[in-house]
Amino acid sequence: MNAIIPSSKMWNLWHGCRKLSAGCAHCYVYRGDEKRGIDSASVVKTASFDAPIARKKRSGEYKIPAGTLVYTCFTSDFFLEEADPWRAEAWDMMRERSDLRFLMITKRIDRLAECVPADWGDGWEHVTICCTVENQDRADYRLPIYRAAPIKHKRIICEPLLGPIDLAPYHIGEWTEQVVAGGESGAGARSCNFDWVMSLREECARQGVSFWFKQTGAQFVKAGKLYTIPRRLQHSQARKAGINLP
Ligand code: SF4
Repeated sequence: MNAIIPSSKMWNLWHGCRKLSAGCAHCYVYRGDEKRGIDSASVVKTASFDAPIARKKRSGEYKIPAGTLVYTCFTSDFFLEEADPWRAEAWDMMRERSDLRFLMITKRIDRLAECVPADWGDGWEHVTICCTVENQDRADYRLPIYRAAPIKHKRIICEPLLGPIDLAPYHIGEWTEQVVAGGESGAGARSCNFDWVMSLREECARQGVSFWFKQTGAQFVKAGKLYTIPRRLQHSQARKAGINLP
């Protein structure tokens, strides 16, 4: 029997961001906006701000059906300071739609405590908050905060992976559902070394954590040789490595 894959939807409730750490240097939001002449540093609410609670005119049903996986805030950072005035309303919508699953990725996990609603408790079952760590320095700063944070579902995103990261000190098997690794894409991309990917994988294997090698990035080093990988092959080449762990 085939596994049932939930349908998914992108919910970019605000747009624009402020660069924070090394992983932001070639941010895809900035790259995309530049082509369209948009200033990414100006953060604005989008027209789809209230998408989760939008209803069909005739039937009155929600437009987004129950069970949908909602990728949340992928053209900004949900915990960005500039979005503070809008976040309470965003939480309200997520609370109302506990029949959906929300997934967001942040580099600002250190702001979670001041940004969650009063009834957050140990986190909401239907909300996954992933934390990005692009190098050892950011792992050492963010992971202790992330580990202690009240979040029901956690995933560590090492993307763009900019150097080796030792996850061993963080006992990820006790609290992380998955580690994702990937290189950087676009012009001027920094290289990603397969050895760094493998060492993350080995730590996941040791600690019983799912591992997903998502994409190689544009400049990929394997066995000491640098390969330039076209965008359309970056995901498939990673898949071909066959190193994912369930
Ligand atoms: S936090 Fe994310 S969206 Fe914001 S600048 Fe950095 S990479 Fe871009």
